[in-house]
Amino acid sequence: MKKLFIVANWKSNLTKAEAEDWLARFKINDLRLKNKKVIICPPFTLLSILKSYILNHKSPITLGAQDISPFGEGSYTGEVNGKQIKEFADYVIIGHSERRNNFSENNEMLARKVEMAKFHNLRSIFCVQSEDTPVPEGVFLVAYEPVFAIGTGNPDTPKNADKVADEIKKKNRAVKYVLYGGSVTSKNVKSFTQMQNIDGVLVGSASLDASEFLEVIKNA
Ligand code: PEP
Repeated sequence: MKKLFIVANWKSNLTKAEAEDWLARFKINDLRLKNKKVIICPPFTLLSILKSYILNHKSPITLGAQDISPFGEGSYTGEVNGKQIKEFADYVIIGHSERRNNFSENNEMLARKVEMAKFHNLRSIFCVQSEDTPVPEGVFLVAYEPVFAIGTGNPDTPKNADKVADEIKKKNRAVKYVLYGGSVTSKNVKSFTQMQNIDGVLVGSASLDASEFLEVIKNA
């Protein structure tokens, strides 16, 4: 049975009270996860709350951040650095198309972020938009997220996503796992995770509803 990563990207959503309500409804301890690794990537403001929740409830949730500073500690107003993130999380999303497009993050900047993640022992979930997107050295977990499929309700076909995942692995020998992301729901998740080259999913909108996200995990 292959290992499956089920990753939630909450993006810039949820207040503290909303996250507490989400956690109360997210009965993950009742599930038998077996081969499934569940990673939640909340905004920075919620990492501490989720970490306490995980410890207090012996929850199998793993935490990820949604971004990392390309710099270390110091005079970088507004940035959150790898050392700070590592206090709470083990993974970090890097290269999401929303950051490339809205914050002009280029390949050089993203490679620096991957280096920072490595230095702080954080695993990168490196997002690519096609098989041609450059993947920095040493990344082993990639998420294929075609822009047309993000938040549109119009996912890629499992067959094409599988082909792209295969090409990504062939082009980048260090890449061991490729996730698919883009309009994944509890209804279509299995069609992706059953494909040979797809090792899980990155879920945006559908992860904001705790019961729908539980169904995604169950059905994956
Ligand atoms: C995402 O932005 O990472 C994503 C996959 O979003 P959605 O599931 O809403 O398409």
